[in-house]
Formats: sequence, C-alpha cells, structure tokens
Amino acid sequence: MSSTPTRSRCDLHGPSETAFVCQHIARGLFHRERVGFYWTDEDPDDPNPDALCEACEECRIKAGGAWVGSAEKHQRVKTLCAGCDQVAKTFHMGGDPWS
Ligand SMILES: [Zn+2]
Ligand SMILES: [Zn+2]
Repeated sequence: MSSTPTRSRCDLHGPSETAFVCQHIARGLFHRERVGFYWTDEDPDDPNPDALCEACEECRIKAGGAWVGSAEKHQRVKTLCAGCDQVAKTFHMGGDPWS
C-alpha cells in the first residue's frame, strides 16, 4: 500500500482525500475486528475526521491530548481514503457498512 501526504488512490473509491487513523483502526477494518472509533472534535465539520481506536484514544488523553509527537509515533498513523474512513467509522462504531 503506497500513500502520499495529502491525496490517495483507493482501489475501492478511486482518487480521494485522505484521512489519518491509527494502525489499529486500519488493521481492524481489514480483519473486521471492532476497536472503537474516536475522532478529533477540533473541526466538527470535517467530513474525513482523523481517528483513533479506544486504546490509542486513552494514550492520547494520557499524553495530554496531543495528536503529534510521541503519541503519534505510538499510534503509527495510517492513511485511509475518505471513503474507507467512512466505512471504518461505521464499522468501528458498531455498524455494518458491508450489509
Ligand atoms: Zn489504535
Ligand atoms: Zn477507499
């Protein structure tokens, strides 16, 4: 999987904006294991929220709420296309985006 900083090309959704999620959300989506979905509320209108799983969200809070720096390293942030981000959000929040 290759990625570029601001744009991605997704096999499912084509060229797309990118969203940043922690490794567990990306992996959980792939393996269909729910890990929770917590996103930044800095911009409530952002259609492609950057998101963390439950465990990473706890780490983030312990780290003082920062998304950058040591917390980010721990999360090993992955990029998803905006479409995949929506699928991930639905799935990790308990829905079934594939039904
Ligand atoms: Zn995580
Ligand atoms: Zn996609």
